[in-house]
Parts: sequence; structure tokens; C-alpha cells
Amino acid sequence: MKEDFYDILGVSKSATPDEIKKAYRKKALKYHPDKNPDDKSAEEKFKKAAEAYEVLSDPDKKARYDQFGHQAFEGAGGFGGGGGMNMDDIFSQFGDIFGGAFGGGGGFSGFGGGFGGGQRRVKGSNLRIRVTLNLEDIANGVEKKLKVKRKVQAPGTTYKTCSTCNGHGQVTRVTNTILGRMQTSSACPTCGGAGQMIDKKPSDADAQGLKVVEETVSVKIPAGVVDGMQLKVTGKGNDAPGNGIAGDLLVVIEEEEHPTLKREGDNLHYDLYVSLPDAVLGTSTEIDTVTGKVRIKIEQGVQSGKILRLRGKGIPSINGYGGGDLLVHVNVWTPKTLSKEQKEFFESMKNDEHFQPKPESSDKSFFEKVKDMFS
Ligand SMILES: [Zn+2]
Repeated sequence: MKEDFYDILGVSKSATPDEIKKAYRKKALKYHPDKNPDDKSAEEKFKKAAEAYEVLSDPDKKARYDQFGHQAFEGAGGFGGGGGMNMDDIFSQFGDIFGGAFGGGGGFSGFGGGFGGGQRRVKGSNLRIRVTLNLEDIANGVEKKLKVKRKVQAPGTTYKTCSTCNGHGQVTRVTNTILGRMQTSSACPTCGGAGQMIDKKPSDADAQGLKVVEETVSVKIPAGVVDGMQLKVTGKGNDAPGNGIAGDLLVVIEEEEHPTLKREGDNLHYDLYVSLPDAVLGTSTEIDTVTGKVRIKIEQGVQSGKILRLRGKGIPSINGYGGGDLLVHVNVWTPKTLSKEQKEFFESMKNDEHFQPKPESSDKSFFEKVKDMFS
């Protein structure tokens, strides 16, 4: 059982956004890896709290969680609070919580340098954007130009060495205890570990020396992506101040429903309706595929429920090798109204031996066909 997000943060379901933020801040500070070096259980709690906050701080995700619980974030891709957060994601969240790396927010921002390592490279926050694709784009792969609003370093912003830590990114504190003098190092509270602070910035820049611009980012989407999947474009998230590195752009895939083709994994299904004369006499007909119309042959005497498999006409595998098939389900269309003459014709065929069902072993039952399809 996954732990309840509200329990993890120690807040009630009716907690306000501010209470949730405060509760998370408290947990994050308590279990922060800087404070608990080499403590796996603290790291675990730190990650859990971040995951809970990621969901409860977002009104959309919170509503989904309140309604569906953890199930709301399971399934394809499992994006957003599905347990897929890494340390980078967590620390990129911190800009909002602790007031950013610059300007004396007193926060932690960027992590990975560990102790004794000097400066840390601050990472900008990740951005997330949705892109809707039709089945043809998914089957063939596509390049999309996405308009992204991202923070970049404002021209004219200059930095100077942090005066608190002299550019080291860390501060060392010496305290007298009954065991003697103890020395502890921690990230510089002024610069968040970057070793730099803002010297001058233009008026249109924010406290971190950043400003929002709209950029067109070109993203190559490989064939075979799945609804909910996230693609990462490195370095196209928000810039970090100073010598930091930019965050990433996360592109979330949304699949548009196709009017006639239904997707199931890499396989596609198509319902084909055949008239009674065509089923009796045989015919050829056009069907939809992800690469356009294709003409297929319908054998004389085809049975309703027969499945024709077009190998390789499904969705290519995202792994780059192989792929699915297109399964054409034959439905023989029985007329609902008949003229007097037609009715007489069928009356006269009632006892005709050609019209008596005589299933052969090749006319497999529905269940046998389903079994075949998934084996
Ligand atoms: Zn500093």
C-alpha cells in the first residue's frame, strides 16, 4: 500500500495551499540530504515528501488524487507524482519553496556537490508542455515546433562573487560543544551554493536576474510513443542564474482518438462491415491504415467475426525494432428490411443445404481467435 500523501506531509485533507507548502518545507528541511548524510531512510522520507508535495501543490493533480487516490497517477508513463521524481526534479521544485537561489532566500538549491566539493551548479526548473498527436503522427514519428515560455538570463545581468561564502558555495560553522569544537559545513544561505550573487540586473528581470521569453523549440517525436509518455528536451527548461545549468523541457504526449482505428498497445483494430452479397460472393475493399488507404481482398464465403491480420501495419515499437499488426474484424451486415421479392428468396433458401451452418475447424470460435491474438 502506498502511503497517503496527506499523512506523509502531516496535514488534513482540508489544508490550505499555504499550510501544505509550510508542512512540506518543514519535512524537506528535516530530511534534507545535507542534514542527513548517508542516511537512506531520511533520503526516502525526503523523496516521499517531495512526491506528495508535487501532487498536493498542483490544483489539478490534487483534485485527481482526492477523487482517485494513487491510482490517478498510475498507468502509461506515470507522469507527475507517479514516483518517478529524481533528485533533480525535487531540487528544481525548491526555487518556489525557498525563494530561489539568489537574493538571500536562505534556501537549498541545486544539490549533488556533496560535502567538501565547493561550488554547486544550480539547475533551473523543468518546464512541462503537452502535445497532442494523431495516430498517423504516432505511427510515423513527427517533428513538432512548440512555443515555450521559458525564463532566460536577462541580458545585462552581471554577477559577483558571493560575499557570504567568498565564492566557495559553502559556509563552515564552528560550534563549541561538551565534546570540543565541532565544525560543520552547509550550503551557503546567501547564494544557495552557487558561489555567485547578482551584481546588477535590468529592471525587467526578476530577483534571480531572469526574464520570460517565448521560444520555438523543435522536438523530434519518435514513432511508437504512448499517451502519457514524457520526452525530455535537455536544457530547454528555465535557465538558472549565473553559472548554473538550464532545466529541462518535459514534453507530455497526448494521443488523439482515431475515427476508425483503435489502438491496443502496438496493435491496431479496424471494424470492417461487409454486405451479405459481398460476403457470399467475395470482393475487395479499401480500409484505413496509418499510412493511408489499403485495398484488401475478401474471400468468397467469409464468415462474420473473421479476423484478418495485416502484419506490420500497426504501430512501430518505440524501441525501434518490430511493431504491431493491423487486425481487421469482419462483420457481415445482415439487412434489416427486405423487399417482398427478397423476402421470398430467403424464405425459399430456408431449407437449402448451402445455407445450413457447417462450421469447419478453420472457422475458429471467437474464444480461440482471441487466444490466438494474444499468443
Ligand atoms: Zn555564498
